[in-house]
Amino acid sequence: MIKANNPKLTSWVKVDKNSDFPIQNIPFGVFNTKEDSTPRVCSAIGDFVIDLHNLMSLGAFKGINLPENVFANPYINDFMALGKSITRNVRNRISDILETGHEFSSLSEQFLVPAKDANLLLPVKIGDYTDFYSSIEHATNLGIMFRGPENALMPNWRHLPVGYHGRASSIVVSGTDIKRPKGQMLPKDADQPVFGPCNLLDFELEMGFVIGKATNLGDTISTADADDYIFGLAVFNDWSARDIQKWEYVPLGPFLGKNFASTIAPWIVTLDALQPFKLKGPKQEPEVLPYLQYDGEKNYDVKLEVILETPSGVQKTLSNSNFKFMYWNMNQQLAHHTVNGCNINVGDFYASGTISGKDETSYGSMLELSKAGKIATEMPDGTTRKFILDGDTIIMKGYCENNGVRIGFGEAVGKILPAD
Ligand code: MN
Repeated sequence: MIKANNPKLTSWVKVDKNSDFPIQNIPFGVFNTKEDSTPRVCSAIGDFVIDLHNLMSLGAFKGINLPENVFANPYINDFMALGKSITRNVRNRISDILETGHEFSSLSEQFLVPAKDANLLLPVKIGDYTDFYSSIEHATNLGIMFRGPENALMPNWRHLPVGYHGRASSIVVSGTDIKRPKGQMLPKDADQPVFGPCNLLDFELEMGFVIGKATNLGDTISTADADDYIFGLAVFNDWSARDIQKWEYVPLGPFLGKNFASTIAPWIVTLDALQPFKLKGPKQEPEVLPYLQYDGEKNYDVKLEVILETPSGVQKTLSNSNFKFMYWNMNQQLAHHTVNGCNINVGDFYASGTISGKDETSYGSMLELSKAGKIATEMPDGTTRKFILDGDTIIMKGYCENNGVRIGFGEAVGKILPAD
């Protein structure tokens, strides 16, 4: 077991039992404050952000081979690139320092910042972004809407993790407002497209993983080795303009209906921290080709929730899903992505695709929840929703829990502003 994952550990920092950030989490992010606008790499515990640059200047990481300014950095990329033998030691050392009885508790003012005073920034300088389509429930629900129940899954779907290359420049950190996109759409029963603000704005509940180790062009990654390359995971909202998407997507796939914005939560929870939450994925039939086969448990039990907050400030949970439903796991996604020799870089981001479960309370998009706009959800303020309206805020969150340990992912929050 990784030392920092020990469920018995307790901290001298008071941590509420419902906090996302107990001593067993130790995620990584980037923050600044009103007083000091310089971005720094941080971690979190309870209601505090841990300033890792300040912690390092106190001598906390003595004996670990860290470049001097690795935490005085606007992104965690340089830290991730040090490799797991170092990043694991750093996480274990942070855990040591936070453990009950450690002498650094007397220096806490020098490295703990109240979370309410911290401005969390985009944690990763994202290079390439790929989005998969790996939930069989989601792919089936959409397939039934577009092609009927007989041909819900395309013939390739059970043989490879379908994906597309997305847009990295418009991935924004939680809290960033999103302007309703404009584009071309084909109105119902029309034969000519119109231009205007998207009418069918949707969210996609996803998780994504960040790459911490690069490959060279021509290299491949096996399902067995994929864990070495995956630094950690984040909750992710892949905003989607369904009417723009529907008109444009043939034959090359998603484009402007997707690339106007995606929202990532500010915390990267390490793959190391998630080891206690592994479980078996769904049985894959037919048997997949040898390069996609894998041993052991490669799915993760992450409970996910989507909340819609109306402009009047009332909230309703629209969906409770789970990352464990994924038909294709991250190891298979990475093995598939590189099997042709495509190289990957530190900071690349790979999203799961919409994560839907079997029943209607676990659908990961409004397209599915509203049955393609046929059924409206009633909000507590009396308004109704089939898709997202101007002024609405979408809040996504996730956590793992077992053995009395609860590891959270923070929140991916975005508010929709009217189109210009
Ligand atoms: Mn997506």
